[in-house]
Amino acid sequence: MKKNYKYETHPNYIVKKPKLLYIDRYGKIYPDCKTYITPPICHISDSNVLKTINDTFFGVGQTGIFNMITIEVSSLCHANCFYCFQKDQHRSEKYQYYDLLLPLLKQIKCYWLFFSGGEILIQKDAMEFMEKIRKVCPDNWIHLKTNGNADLDAILFVEQTCDSLMVSFNGFSSASYNMIMQLDIYKTIRFCETLISNRKVNVGLKFLNSPAVISEAPSFLEWALSKKAQCVVIQTAYNYIVEDEGKSTRINSTFDNCNETYWNDIYIRVSTMLNAILEKNKDNVNCGFNYLTADKELFQLLSISEENQKLIRTDGVYVIE
Ligand code: SF4
Repeated sequence: MKKNYKYETHPNYIVKKPKLLYIDRYGKIYPDCKTYITPPICHISDSNVLKTINDTFFGVGQTGIFNMITIEVSSLCHANCFYCFQKDQHRSEKYQYYDLLLPLLKQIKCYWLFFSGGEILIQKDAMEFMEKIRKVCPDNWIHLKTNGNADLDAILFVEQTCDSLMVSFNGFSSASYNMIMQLDIYKTIRFCETLISNRKVNVGLKFLNSPAVISEAPSFLEWALSKKAQCVVIQTAYNYIVEDEGKSTRINSTFDNCNETYWNDIYIRVSTMLNAILEKNKDNVNCGFNYLTADKELFQLLSISEENQKLIRTDGVYVIE
């Protein structure tokens, strides 16, 4: 499916209702991005799994192309984020379905294959599986979701196996990053900067905004834009209830119940700083790199100018290819 699409013509950027498939870490297959609003359509171990998937999306006996298939492997991770939605009772267990996944992915057509943990860069079996997928699906765009807190050895794996990756930051100072994720931010920054300067894969940089770190959003944005990442994202962090068997439910934004008298002044100052950075960089965004995405909550929380809002996608799509 890799065809060097342009921003204006890529099927995943112009489609109104993308065809999404989510294969979760327990082998359940969802017809969306696993919001749990829709129940799974089948399980990867079902005998008629491919037919069920195709019939559900394209009509009985038909086939077609998915915009994105997300594959979630084990939730094993070396971080310990406050608002992780994958901390269930099976967190340290290995993923069971690689043998079924390989032939299935080989037969389904899609533009993007998204891999997600836990943290894949500490899971040897997941990395070996992705290397196999790279060989059997050479034309698929392979994307990795990661916390990026990896040794430089992992760079070789990423460059040989992936087309793109998105690195999430739950803060942009050593103190807040360590408080929320219990990791060293300098390791993550070194990993990202090395990958970006090598220019072999497309790198997305995502800031997860929360009351503890909102004052760091401007320094994150300034850094990310200066590096000329492919994609730069600011997204509100949410709290989740995670059930023992893996089901996670979004309960509220981390900004809910923030006392207005105190927080309004902070929002105003952060807005002023973000507006100034966007204004300064307006010719340096959405132009082959630095594609900007934010969620709509950002504009409800902060006062981003109309001109600056026009620079930012809010439809949830990351321009990563
Ligand atoms: S990096 Fe991701 S998977 Fe790991 S603890 Fe944080 S939110 Fe959870």
